[in-house]
Amino acid sequence: MTDFNWCHGPNCHTHHTVDRVRGVKGSKVLRTRKVKLNQWNKDSFYSKFCSNSCYNEFANKYANQIVAIAPRTECLETPIEDPKRTKHSNPYHNWYETEIKVDETRQS
Ligand SMILES: [Zn+2]
Repeated sequence: MTDFNWCHGPNCHTHHTVDRVRGVKGSKVLRTRKVKLNQWNKDSFYSKFCSNSCYNEFANKYANQIVAIAPRTECLETPIEDPKRTKHSNPYHNWYETEIKVDETRQS
């Protein structure tokens, strides 16, 4: 079992950073980063991607295939109580807050 994944960013190996430079003089390359597995990233996509930009590049390139895993063909709804709007004020200004509470009695 390995303790790392290669970054899945489709362009990881093209980003110009010195930590990606590998190889001997005269035949240097930019190489895909390794992502070390640890207790913080083991259950998240951060175990597969070295950065948010690599994750975004993957998601943008493969978005249609990703959503095909679990297509959303209709909207979802969360039952809520009627929202309560409350006025607040201090010596400088007034503002309103609207409280939105989930209606637990209508949960399926
Ligand atoms: Zn990467």
